[in-house]
Amino acid sequence: MKRVGFLYDDVFLLHEMPAGHPESKDRLIAINESLRRSALWDKLVHLKPRKAAKRDILTVHKESYYEKLLGYTGYYDADTYVSKHSVEAASYASGAVIEAIQRCKTGELDRAFCSVRPPGHHAEADRAMGFCIFNNVAIGARYAQGLGYKRVFIADFDVHHGNGTQHTFEDDDTVFYFSTHQYPHYPGTGHSSEKGKSGGTGFTCNIPMGYGSGDEEYREAFGEVLPGLVEEFCPDIMLVSAGYDLHVKDPLAGIGVTDEGVRTIVRSILLAGKTIPNIFCLEGGYNLVSLGESVKITMEELLYCE
Ligand SMILES: [Zn+2]
Repeated sequence: MKRVGFLYDDVFLLHEMPAGHPESKDRLIAINESLRRSALWDKLVHLKPRKAAKRDILTVHKESYYEKLLGYTGYYDADTYVSKHSVEAASYASGAVIEAIQRCKTGELDRAFCSVRPPGHHAEADRAMGFCIFNNVAIGARYAQGLGYKRVFIADFDVHHGNGTQHTFEDDDTVFYFSTHQYPHYPGTGHSSEKGKSGGTGFTCNIPMGYGSGDEEYREAFGEVLPGLVEEFCPDIMLVSAGYDLHVKDPLAGIGVTDEGVRTIVRSILLAGKTIPNIFCLEGGYNLVSLGESVKITMEELLYCE
């Protein structure tokens, strides 16, 4: 059995949304309840996240954006809401990834799951977007490099393309960004021709999925394409943008991945990054039942996939 950290704090529930918003605190409550009902809960190493320092956040975001957020309340864009405690929650969400990376570095953990909100992969250097305030995984990647992990592989299976993550690293050959996502769909980026820029060309791989794609298309992407890319890139650490809105029951998209499909994706990622730390960070997932079940499946694989 692997040593698997589960990073969570009630501070994430303080990020309040207007009534009816799909990105609600009920998502994390559903995950906790699903894991508590299973035998997995007691096998996990339960850890509190730290709060990301401003200097960590500024490795990805512009200071002008950070300053603008302080004291900001209301809609930042059409669907991204900032409440009184949102920046605090977002700082801890990024801090969870940082904490998990640090614990892997010291050898305390092999793998981790950061059960956080707000999510991060749409957040750009200079703006909040798509329910995301700080780009948790991107901040984690820069922190990991500061700790000595030179080459970072980011796998993103959220049903939406992680525009913010791609843009952060598109000219960087030390961070590989691999994404599957429904296409065309929000946010509009993620065409297969987007492969990185200048020195980072060839270090971004987008696999767009047509409406109605399901387990077989994802098995090909994660079981057949991903392993070769990871082998060639030879990363020191793997960060995963784990978005469960690719599930067939999810209300925000049109992809048909089943519970078993989720298991195959997670297992394929873990097998591709067998010898290195794997840190999963929650992104989307808006059907509370399938979200709880998908994270439970993820934790089973994190614990037992050798
Ligand atoms: Zn999403």
